[in-house]
Amino acid sequence: MHPDPLKSPKKPVNAERPFPRRCGQCGQEKVFLTTIRYEAEVRHDGRMHTFAIPDLQIPVCQDCGAKVFTEKVDDQITAALAGSLRLRGLHTP
Ligand SMILES: [Zn+2]
Repeated sequence: MHPDPLKSPKKPVNAERPFPRRCGQCGQEKVFLTTIRYEAEVRHDGRMHTFAIPDLQIPVCQDCGAKVFTEKVDDQITAALAGSLRLRGLHTP
């Protein structure tokens, strides 16, 4: 048995950069798109908001655990913040 995690059967058409990517922390090519639970802290209206995102899709280094924040990650956090504010009855931008 030789499992090969680097081989992926299909690539999304609009992929930005192929995985694995090189890690900015340890230099290993072990950054894979991973779904994690993430506790986000975002400043909004001069206040810090802390909320959990149960299924954030983010590139994570499988070697050192470094998270890579991309535009897509930002979008997910922004969307989750809006949802969180709505839940608390606060106004959204
Ligand atoms: Zn790393």
